[in-house]
Amino acid sequence: MTTPVPPRKMRPATALVHGGTLRSQFGETSEAIFLTQGFVYPSMEAAEARFAGKDPGFIYSRFSNPTVAMFEQRMALLEGAESARATASGMAAVTAAMLGQLKAGDHVVAAKALFGSCRYVVEELLPRFGVPSTLVDGTDLAQWRAAMRPETKVLFLESPTNPQLEIIDIAAVAEIAHAGGATLVVDNVFATPLLQSPLKLGADCVVYSATKHIDGQGRTLGGCILASEEFIQTHVHNFLRQTGPALSPFNAWVMLKGLETLPVRLMAQQANAARLADFLAGRPGVERVLYPSRKDHPQHELAMRQMSGGGSVIAIDIAGGQDGAFRFGNALSIIKISNNLGDAKSLLTHPATTTHQRIGPVARAESGIGDGMVRLSCGLEDIEDLIDDVTAGLKAVTG
Ligand SMILES: *Cc1c(COP(=O)(O)O)cnc(C)c1O
Repeated sequence: MTTPVPPRKMRPATALVHGGTLRSQFGETSEAIFLTQGFVYPSMEAAEARFAGKDPGFIYSRFSNPTVAMFEQRMALLEGAESARATASGMAAVTAAMLGQLKAGDHVVAAKALFGSCRYVVEELLPRFGVPSTLVDGTDLAQWRAAMRPETKVLFLESPTNPQLEIIDIAAVAEIAHAGGATLVVDNVFATPLLQSPLKLGADCVVYSATKHIDGQGRTLGGCILASEEFIQTHVHNFLRQTGPALSPFNAWVMLKGLETLPVRLMAQQANAARLADFLAGRPGVERVLYPSRKDHPQHELAMRQMSGGGSVIAIDIAGGQDGAFRFGNALSIIKISNNLGDAKSLLTHPATTTHQRIGPVARAESGIGDGMVRLSCGLEDIEDLIDDVTAGLKAVTG
């Protein structure tokens, strides 16, 4: 296996095509899938050296694998991070990033508006192991400050949030974390590494569900943790090796192929989202459109300060509550009803009855998730077809 001439500094689109590529002796163009659990050694001495860390080769695919290593390297280049570790899913990344840092007696502060499973980890799982958590309104910096305790170790947030697309000031929360001797972990799924760089804003660790935009075509689950080499070595490296949420080499290969086209797909999806948001705003049957790059987004300025675009997801309050939202969704034919996002196919979710059913009506109301809210993840279809589809949806709402 050879690493070619050290590449010159690559801009993101180039790094996403060439970054991290390891070629075997066959000189394949496309990255190879090393579908192997283990590796053989030329001698007993070589095995000894590998295990002693004197020879950096591969040992076992729970630890590392060439295809997975290519994915990790490409992600690190994209994020501008020193180090990356791939995981089997986004939730494996979130869980490892948290558990790897925490022990009984520590305390966690997190924004309330979290992906459902992230909320389970913070609110239910960590307290069972002696790590209490405080949930705050992530947009209110005073609440973050007030929640800090001497034993607070980790702050955790997503921005934009799911599904209401609130923006949390990452730089300000990082400052609060560091002033209290804690770290900040950011789930950057909605923004993607192309639109927002939490590490540059002061976060200590970034996690992704690669299942979303990075695959982008709805095929495989995957995740990634990115941070400084020191953070990864101290908190993540051993935890992942010994507990085993490893990404399959096949899935890593799918993600590598996904990364090649990420900028092209994301820009096209974002253009569709921006057009649809403008089309929907103010139309009969629509009470409100939330999209970060629209001037009427409540945190438009902050959004444009820390993101380079509005992203591929829109939140829409449909008139008539759940009944209105259901009429809208049931009248769509091109946009599919699904809970995924970042896909080439446009996907509609009704959070109150699906992804956010479990948290109950009180927590939903607190988080601004109304019964009429739908989340639309914009895909790669022709914009005119998407406009025709939502027009049919609104006709079913207004009668
Ligand atoms: C999907 C998602 C996750 C979980 O990722 P999986 O790959 O489904 O495990 C975590 N956070 C956010 C914001 C997500 O959208």
